[in-house]
Amino acid sequence: MTATDTFFQPNTAINTQPNIAALYIVATPIGNMSDISARAINTLNKVDIIACEDTRTSGKLLSNFGINTQTWAYHEHNSEIQTPKIIEMIQRGHSIALISDAGTPLISDPGYQLVQAAHKAGIKVVPIVGASAAIAALSVAGLPSDKFSFVGFLPAKTHGRIKQLEQYANRTETLIFYEAPHRIIASLNDMAAVFGDTRPATLCRELTKTFETVKKATLSELAEFVAADNNQQKGEIVLVVGGDVNNKTDDDSAHDKLLLRLLEDLSVKKAAALASDLTGVKKNALYQRLLELQDK
Ligand code: SAM
Repeated sequence: MTATDTFFQPNTAINTQPNIAALYIVATPIGNMSDISARAINTLNKVDIIACEDTRTSGKLLSNFGINTQTWAYHEHNSEIQTPKIIEMIQRGHSIALISDAGTPLISDPGYQLVQAAHKAGIKVVPIVGASAAIAALSVAGLPSDKFSFVGFLPAKTHGRIKQLEQYANRTETLIFYEAPHRIIASLNDMAAVFGDTRPATLCRELTKTFETVKKATLSELAEFVAADNNQQKGEIVLVVGGDVNNKTDDDSAHDKLLLRLLEDLSVKKAAALASDLTGVKKNALYQRLLELQDK
């Protein structure tokens, strides 16, 4: 049997069985219902209780898949009360799933306190993986994906937003932001002011839904694009912003010179291996950098 055969065997691993007392962190779709996984449906059907950020919102998702499992509310305003109750239920032998309104729980969503408490209590925590808007956006943004930081939501008020953006202005990695539609123009303008008009960025709006937008441009072009079209000021938005390429360290530049020289005589793989031996930098990181240099 090959590794691929093993990979496609359903439900072979014991820790995927949702009737085992554990906390299951279940990702749900960010728009397109077809993005739910078979394992997520199976888990939500079999657990004793589903803890939901909003029981009404999740009710629609659950009824869509014919799931009748009992739901409990679990959100930032009741997590102090609900966390010990859920932990106690699991300790008594029940299995509980946590879902948020959309995407992966804990990613700008409730759940951290519960997962932390489960670890403290020695309870098994099982990820049932699926969509997250941040990773979906990064995967289509057309910006370097070898290193990135997830920033999440910026402060709502201009002063706080600019202060936070300033902290990220010289970061060289790609930055991922969640943004509310009514703040998107203000945020794009603030980003253009702090990061520079010409910094590349990708607006990822309504991903996996009917009116999906993926537009890559400079920050000032994106600000104009959104301001000129009311439709772009609606829905759910992720902004992916390129890093500060002028802020590469001397080390980075020296590595690039070495990599470019090695590329003249060697394959990407061999160049990465040799450069890693010479610099002590991880081979995989150098391999990714070589691919970027090759594309330039
Ligand atoms: N936990 C979720 C995840 O894994 O993506 C994110 C929850 S956060 C409260 C909601 C934010 O995620 C939205 O305001 C938006 O920035 C982003 N988002 C969620 N769904 C999206 C979609 N379909 N397209 C673009 N952005 C989305």
